[in-house]
Amino acid sequence: MLERLSWKKLAVELLFFCVPALLLGLLIDHVLLLLLLSTFAALGWHFYNLLKLSKWLWLDRSITPPPGNGTWEPLFYGLYQMQQRNRRRRRELTLLIKRFRSGAESLPDGVVLMTDEGQLFWCNRLAQHLLSFRWPEDNGQHILNLLRYPEFSHYLKSQNFERPLTLQLNSDRYIEFRIMPYSIGQLLMVVRDVTVMRQMDGSRSNFFANVSHELRTPLTVLQGYLEMLNDDTLVGPMRTKALSTMQEQSRRMESLVQQLLTLSRIEAAPTLDLTEQVDIPAMLRMLQQEAITLSGGCHRIVFRINESLKVYGNEEQLRSAVSNLVYNSVKHTPEGTTIEVCWQRTAGGAQFQVSDNGPGISSEHLIHLTERFYRVDKARSRNTGGSGLGLAIVKHALSHHDARLDIFSDIGLGSRFVFTIPNRLIVDMKLTENPITD
Ligand code: ADP
Repeated sequence: MLERLSWKKLAVELLFFCVPALLLGLLIDHVLLLLLLSTFAALGWHFYNLLKLSKWLWLDRSITPPPGNGTWEPLFYGLYQMQQRNRRRRRELTLLIKRFRSGAESLPDGVVLMTDEGQLFWCNRLAQHLLSFRWPEDNGQHILNLLRYPEFSHYLKSQNFERPLTLQLNSDRYIEFRIMPYSIGQLLMVVRDVTVMRQMDGSRSNFFANVSHELRTPLTVLQGYLEMLNDDTLVGPMRTKALSTMQEQSRRMESLVQQLLTLSRIEAAPTLDLTEQVDIPAMLRMLQQEAITLSGGCHRIVFRINESLKVYGNEEQLRSAVSNLVYNSVKHTPEGTTIEVCWQRTAGGAQFQVSDNGPGISSEHLIHLTERFYRVDKARSRNTGGSGLGLAIVKHALSHHDARLDIFSDIGLGSRFVFTIPNRLIVDMKLTENPITD
């Protein structure tokens, strides 16, 4: 094991050169001359080693320094050790940077590193994508040259980063910027796409506006009549009419609240485990009676049901789905319309279909029908007690059963609402091949 250079070693080396010269000098009586020669020899040897070291430092590309002897050996070895230590540290640092970068790449947010003057020096791929940076071309650019939004430049210049800044970029995306100082003279900017959150906020406030609007109309009617009743201005047939209108309006509010509760229950329901058997044929038989009552005999209603076709699912949700579709075909079609409800096996699964030969729905409305509160003819639909929530309920209930509502309609020809419960949710497939009964 080599040790560092010490005074002792240097003295030994000096003796190594001087003692033989001294002895020989005494022998031949030329002590001074031989001591001078030995000093030159020592000097020459050190020069030689210095040149070796310089050549290795400047020209040689090998990692190991040249072998050294005597007092030079610990120096060469010390240099070698230092180099090894540096290499190890560099490797550790490279690994650390790699880890940091791959960590920053897998973050769900964009990350941008810049100097406190705004000079960009690193960003992850998500930031490049969200902010449309070209990398590495934009490396070293000033951030304000790349993000030309007055609010952003004001935010950066104010140096007040307590609150995040949200901007709508030219790409129409809403991006939230959070800047925080880190290390000395450097800034870390986190960018997040908050477009969906914004849209959700928008649809939530839309939803509340719709609910308030839907409730306000019947409430105004009720209030008006109540005031008149209070003033005793309503007498005779007017009073009877007022009471029946008030009853109708309160029924409307009750039905709206009921539908809102159903929708929120279905939306909030966790993923169903779908192990409950649902007897759809029995459900449809009851629904047939209810539809006939609702129609008051004004429609021709035909039910074609595969009596043994049961499915796994959630009874309440499936009842909401099928009843909304059947009631709609009665509510939204005129007298004399033929309505056909079919529950049958198909190659894709258990198919439910309600078709009518009513007035139909024009094509521009079809994609909006499952939106909450969407009605084709608002005035007409309100008269029939519709809230515009029925098909939204159907859509959500079906999505919990891996099914989708398809709507086909032609003006003047009628409408068809179809969904198919997948084969894996059908109970005892052998029994389902029974013929359909009318
Ligand atoms: P509503 O409570 O008004 O029935 P829905 O969400 O159930 O709300 O239906 C949305 C709209 O779709 C209805 O207002 C109606 O205009 C239209 N619609 C639904 N079913 C039919 C149908 N069978 N024929 C014609 N229009 C329909």
